[in-house]
Amino acid sequence: MTSVRTFAFLLTVLLLACGGPPPPKEPIDRLYHSLAEKGVPLDRAGLAGRRILIDPGHGGRFTGTTGRGGLQEKDVNLGVALYLWGLLRDAGADAHLTRTSDRDFVGGDSSATVAQDLAARIAIADSIRPHFLLSIHHNAAADTNRSRNQIETYYPAGEEGPSLDAARAIHEHLARNLGIDDGRVVPGNFYLLRESRYPAVLGEPSYLSHPPVEEKLVLGEKQKLEAEAYFLGIVEYFSRGTPTARCDLPEETVGAREGLRFEGLVADEEGFPGIDPSTIRLALDGKELPHLFDPATGRVTAGLPEDLSPGEHRTALRARNLEGNACRETVTPFRVQFPPVRAEVEGFRMPPEGGTVLTITLRDERGLPVADGTIMMSPPEVGAVKGKGEFHVTEKGAFLKSLPPGPLPEGIPLWNPESSLIASVDASRIKEPPALLLLLDDQGEPVEGAQVWVGQEPAGLSRRGGWVLLSSPPEPGAPIRVEASGCGSTLARREESGTVVDTLLLPRKEALPLAGKRILIDPAGDPGGGIFPPSSQSLTAALYLEEMFRWAGARPALTRRGEIVPPEGERIPLAGQLGAAYWITVAAGESTSVRHFPGSEEGAPLARRVAEEIAEERGSDVPVRTGTEPVLRLTPCPAIVVTIPPLEGDGRRIRAGMRALAQAVGEGLRRHIDGDGAPRGTVVVDSLLPGALVRVDDEVTFQMPLAGALRIDLPRAGSHRFWMEGEKGWVERWVDVAPGETIHIP
Ligand SMILES: [Zn+2]
Repeated sequence: MTSVRTFAFLLTVLLLACGGPPPPKEPIDRLYHSLAEKGVPLDRAGLAGRRILIDPGHGGRFTGTTGRGGLQEKDVNLGVALYLWGLLRDAGADAHLTRTSDRDFVGGDSSATVAQDLAARIAIADSIRPHFLLSIHHNAAADTNRSRNQIETYYPAGEEGPSLDAARAIHEHLARNLGIDDGRVVPGNFYLLRESRYPAVLGEPSYLSHPPVEEKLVLGEKQKLEAEAYFLGIVEYFSRGTPTARCDLPEETVGAREGLRFEGLVADEEGFPGIDPSTIRLALDGKELPHLFDPATGRVTAGLPEDLSPGEHRTALRARNLEGNACRETVTPFRVQFPPVRAEVEGFRMPPEGGTVLTITLRDERGLPVADGTIMMSPPEVGAVKGKGEFHVTEKGAFLKSLPPGPLPEGIPLWNPESSLIASVDASRIKEPPALLLLLDDQGEPVEGAQVWVGQEPAGLSRRGGWVLLSSPPEPGAPIRVEASGCGSTLARREESGTVVDTLLLPRKEALPLAGKRILIDPAGDPGGGIFPPSSQSLTAALYLEEMFRWAGARPALTRRGEIVPPEGERIPLAGQLGAAYWITVAAGESTSVRHFPGSEEGAPLARRVAEEIAEERGSDVPVRTGTEPVLRLTPCPAIVVTIPPLEGDGRRIRAGMRALAQAVGEGLRRHIDGDGAPRGTVVVDSLLPGALVRVDDEVTFQMPLAGALRIDLPRAGSHRFWMEGEKGWVERWVDVAPGETIHIP
């Protein structure tokens, strides 16, 4: 070392003496240099008692990759894993290793496959049931490019829950401490990730095919440095708490009417701030199901559609806590099976061999064909019956029955052995069930997924086109209550004697401009490089924006949800396919700005509004510019591109920044659609009888609360017609409200 320095010194002196240029400054070698986060305060208490399984990749006859200097991946992986195991143990975690020596899991059998080796590791995981599984590897360039080096942190493809959260936390700390600038969090389809039943991450923090990396990782202290970076990531992940979700259905088979409800529970870990209500997602058969959440108990409840078809279904529940950590999605399969209560003759024929064959559909109390496999009995004197009196229902709920020659009997008794319900074949057609039609009041747009109550009873969920099928016609005058995302809880009353009733919903006041609008959110940005790359930042902002729009009753969609950014050619057509009313691209740029297409009539004022909101949030001017990039030029709706410089700092800070950005963008769009944003009027009805109805503009009906006044926020100022139910019948009043004014009606 000394001689090299002396030589360099002499060289410098010589060069200076000769009047030549100064020598190039030798760059500091940051690669695996030292822990940059030394001394950073971290709450290690979060690790106490966590079961963590570390899997040093490869081993035994499976060597993994080999560096040019001969260093084998299996040995480095084991070295890092052993250091990490020690760190986790010291911090109170219940840490385990799949191997502690240079071994494989196939007993050295040269005919055994890698898959057999990996299956054995999964079996170890299943015996330990860890809270988290980390597989430690090192990468190699597939080509001969020995300069390639970057951090790749993998999570199981499609598991954008705890595994992705852990992968991001780990990636952040690997990137901060290993001196490698390039890197990404990637969905992976590796055996260990795919088969793991536990949150899992596979780390490839550097390329062993890159000679400088090999030179470092030969040294134990550098393996230890990598272990410390992993350790900090794991500490951070667990410091945010691990929430859980649970689905409770009363039985595996749902049959009774009162059983058509979903119950579940979302809970944060004890000592953590709780579940973020806006992140709770409940799905039925892959489609979102509106739910109610009780923050006090964590219970999530929802009415299952009354017309849920017989057979197999499944619910899925997921959520995040206020620290941003997700729970694992919990999926519960169940079966819907109602006993048959009605038999309906669909047709009959008289075959040449004699007798009459009836085609009968069995229906349950909801009027739906019963589940496949339902058994029905009939008395032997009815005639030759297939299956000796047992009727096996086909896929469509229909079965065939043979009758003796002669006129068709009026009624044939049939019974179901399990329900002991007796049905009688009745050839008269089933009447159309009564129905409600739910529409938004300002656009007349159908509302799907709204929960309807008749009196105190849940009466059904609205389906495609806004229709709700009711099991029986509501009593005349029975209050009908409707709850839908983005709408106030609205009371309506059946107005007509027919079977179809129109119900109009008043959207939440603050949500009014956005209700029902289809908005496409396009998270763009550079996927490469950095701890929290620009593409992840914009995705974070896009997800927050989606939550806000959904809560406001809009219908947002995203051009992507994963880490991979599809090309513009795939993203732009979505605007047309989904019928988007607005397009918002969020991207990283050198400076903050909002751009619109030069010729766009609506894009320009929209961009101005959004820029104003962002400026207000940041406390500095945000320029509005024109742009002609494809997302502005080719989208068939008003479009803007919001660019901000990528934020720096830890994940928590970046998430907070993106949330604030989303809030500003969402508010800008809301105010833009809302026109000049002029305040609306409010009417307070002071003294009608409790429960009396108040109908406004022949559109919406409200009901007086049991105590106190009824406050109605009007969708616009001006003249409104009020019908109020008094002691002596209905009274009409016209009310003029100035913008922002509050008027009392005694
Ligand atoms: Zn490997």
